[in-house]
Amino acid sequence: MAVEATVGGQIAARVVHTGVNTRGQLSAASSGSCGHAAAMFSRFLGSEWANVAARALHKLLRKEELEHDEEYAVERLCSWLSRVQGTDPLVDDALDETQREFLLSYRLPEGAAAGSTPGGGRRAPGRQYILPQRTPRADGLPSAEPSRASSEETEAVKDPELQEQLQALEDWEAFNVFKLAQLTDGRPLQTVTLALLRKRGLVSRLGLPEDRLRSFLADAEEAYHPHNPYHNSLHAADVTQALGAMLALDDFAAQLSDLEQLAVILAAAIHDVGHPGVNNDFLIRTQSEAAVAYNDISINENMHAAAGFKLLAKKENNFLSQMSLEDFRHVRRLIIRIILSTDMAAHHDSVDEFAASLRLWGPDLAAWAPDKRVVALQLLVHAADISNPARPLRYCCQWGHLVHEEFFAQGDKEAALGMPVSSICDRQKASVAQSQLTFVEYVVKPCFLALAEFAPRFAATVQPHICDALQHWQQEQQQHAATADVEPDAAQRAAAAAGSRCLPTR
Ligand SMILES: [Zn+2]
Repeated sequence: MAVEATVGGQIAARVVHTGVNTRGQLSAASSGSCGHAAAMFSRFLGSEWANVAARALHKLLRKEELEHDEEYAVERLCSWLSRVQGTDPLVDDALDETQREFLLSYRLPEGAAAGSTPGGGRRAPGRQYILPQRTPRADGLPSAEPSRASSEETEAVKDPELQEQLQALEDWEAFNVFKLAQLTDGRPLQTVTLALLRKRGLVSRLGLPEDRLRSFLADAEEAYHPHNPYHNSLHAADVTQALGAMLALDDFAAQLSDLEQLAVILAAAIHDVGHPGVNNDFLIRTQSEAAVAYNDISINENMHAAAGFKLLAKKENNFLSQMSLEDFRHVRRLIIRIILSTDMAAHHDSVDEFAASLRLWGPDLAAWAPDKRVVALQLLVHAADISNPARPLRYCCQWGHLVHEEFFAQGDKEAALGMPVSSICDRQKASVAQSQLTFVEYVVKPCFLALAEFAPRFAATVQPHICDALQHWQQEQQQHAATADVEPDAAQRAAAAAGSRCLPTR
């Protein structure tokens, strides 16, 4: 891969160089700012490739070794180049004969053009931002839950790379959801959720019919919009895996009932299903049908929960139909409350209520009032939902740029509708780095600090990554400020002042 990455890097550099010179924007690219390069790229590469190409460029300009995620970035860039080769003069001019030949290895099979699913799978048509297009393959898991121990479960998986990812299913650092999406032909959510339910023994202990569970998860994955840069099934898979890792790190299986474990895993899997790629504020301001239907209250979150249960109600999907009515109502109530609490508008209330309960009853859930246990479940899923900056830096950066690409797409819609453009969504003015600093300082850290006593191993695991994220976005912001002559805002100053304390654990 090292040789391929080098050739791919050269291709990226030449395409960039041609495009940059064409538009006289060399200074933006050579500043080394991923955000600037991404914005520039999006004008001629198409936004889905902008971040990928920008990151490859970023490393090349700094003459650093291409590492795992950059290899992946280059691979995605080459895959795109192989498709447009011969049709885009800008690209053709940038390639030499060796590079053309190299790209042939990335040529997709006949009939696997952009927007289609290789092998006639179930994926909806549309532009795929980050979900790969590869040879057809199911989720890769064996069809029946083995009765063997969970560590033996992955032995039945033929693909060693997939086996490696499944073995890391509950590992905060080793698991790579981007890689898993590649290995499962763009079905990371079904794979993660089913594997997690099996690994925790919930499929067998709760007697869940696996054919209907698989059908439900496939429908849920399909209901995530693949054209969203961020709120697609990859994000849902990431959140579900994050939740699984949290459950394992602090051994929550000992604290939670089977039904509670089922509820948190399912809630994580469907918590953004059908996300329209715009936030609640946009839906309210445009007086959308959804805003009317849900009276402007947690519109997206209400919609996600309802959409998830509509899918479950389909006969071929209803893997909970064998449950007692009482158990089903319990699980349904938990899932709805957990998904509604993922509304960012509920963030401070959720953290405060959790902290108050923790002060009152301590970290052992057995001591909590039964009707308050859901508060802990809500915070676990919410923490998983906002955990991007707590992941290893290579993933943190990818997620950071993807979420802002979605914000910027919303800003474009606002501008096209003649509405005031939300400040965070303004691609001309907003700084990804500054937004991320604010997010980490005022949202992520308070939430994870509140969890520190309740989930101490989790808090200790994420602490160094949050430090890395703060340091990285501070550097990016300094570069942005230097080129754009921007004053650092309060969040950046606060983050800088925070220094190495980042996220103190108890
Ligand atoms: Zn989410």
